[in-house]
Amino acid sequence: MTSWIEIADRVYVRRYAELDLTVGLVVGDDGCLVIDTRGDLEQGAELAAAVRSLTPLPWTVVYTHAHFDHCFGTSAFPGASVWAHRLCHKDMAEHGASELRKWSAHYLAEGKPSIAAALDRTSLVLPTDLVDDHASLSLGGREVSLVYAGLAHSSGDLLVHVPDARVLFVGDLVENGAPPQFGDAHPLSWPTALTTILEYDVDVVVAGHGDPVDLSFVAAQREELRAVAQLCRAVASGELSTSDALAASPYPAEFTREALERTLSTR
Ligand SMILES: [Zn+2]
Repeated sequence: MTSWIEIADRVYVRRYAELDLTVGLVVGDDGCLVIDTRGDLEQGAELAAAVRSLTPLPWTVVYTHAHFDHCFGTSAFPGASVWAHRLCHKDMAEHGASELRKWSAHYLAEGKPSIAAALDRTSLVLPTDLVDDHASLSLGGREVSLVYAGLAHSSGDLLVHVPDARVLFVGDLVENGAPPQFGDAHPLSWPTALTTILEYDVDVVVAGHGDPVDLSFVAAQREELRAVAQLCRAVASGELSTSDALAASPYPAEFTREALERTLSTR
């Protein structure tokens, strides 16, 4: 059964079997911050009820990035301010409707018609408060920072730092339990975002999928991402064949192939 796990004082994560997703909740004296809202209106409603089982305080939402599983459940959080990076807003505004249709078709084909139907009934909630480089939120007796880490897993990934709890939420900039996803990524600059993460003095790093990790896990993943970036550069410059890059990659071929395609298409 899904339940809240308190990883630090009034900082919670909630883990889901579907996509191995992890969302977060930070509770202050005057308000609470919901970090990602799951993938459709029904999933969002489940999360909203779970938040209300812990706290009656007014809620604010932050999106770690624009991918559907992190931000399509927000209609279940009426009245919430919704923070995100400016490019997350742009991605959702331009591609959100087609992403809804794409993932509905995906779940139908996967034999999960109830999720497909929920997506069909889902209305997107675009961010209301946009971050360029940095923003600071007060939850009452507790500050939370939102920090842009540059083009990486997507164009608009935000870090959510809770300094008094020594916790950093990083969305899909770090993947635990599966290889990093390159479908929307900027493979050459992604390692730099992990360098930014490694500059934080924190005990827990909460990835968007899988169990929370620590900074040594992030350091190891940065080395893998650096290796992939190097392979992408070598293929782009003609020094290396695609098949040699796939063979040398730390990740399965389908993931590396996406990284190579993204590198060539975003140059
Ligand atoms: Zn993602």
